[in-house]
Amino acid sequence: MKSRCKLCDEPIFWARAATGKALPLDAETSAGGTLVLVRRGEDHIAIGPRDPDYARLVGEGARLRVPHSMTCTKADQRRGGQNHRDLFSE
Ligand SMILES: [Zn+2]
Repeated sequence: MKSRCKLCDEPIFWARAATGKALPLDAETSAGGTLVLVRRGEDHIAIGPRDPDYARLVGEGARLRVPHSMTCTKADQRRGGQNHRDLFSE
């Protein structure tokens, strides 16, 4: 599902981790990504190198994805609450 990050407003794609947990990915694919999307039933599952299908999919040219938490410019504010950046921003 396409969406936008509530924190930084960048386009994201909602997938699920293999555990079923909702996992936002960057909408853009990236050569430096570590996840591959697979369709399982109704869900898009983001699998990593530990998944048995991962190497085969990458070998077939699957596009790599990055978890949005790695690139979100605002995520640290949510995690850390009051931090130095908050104190010094306008
Ligand atoms: Zn974000």
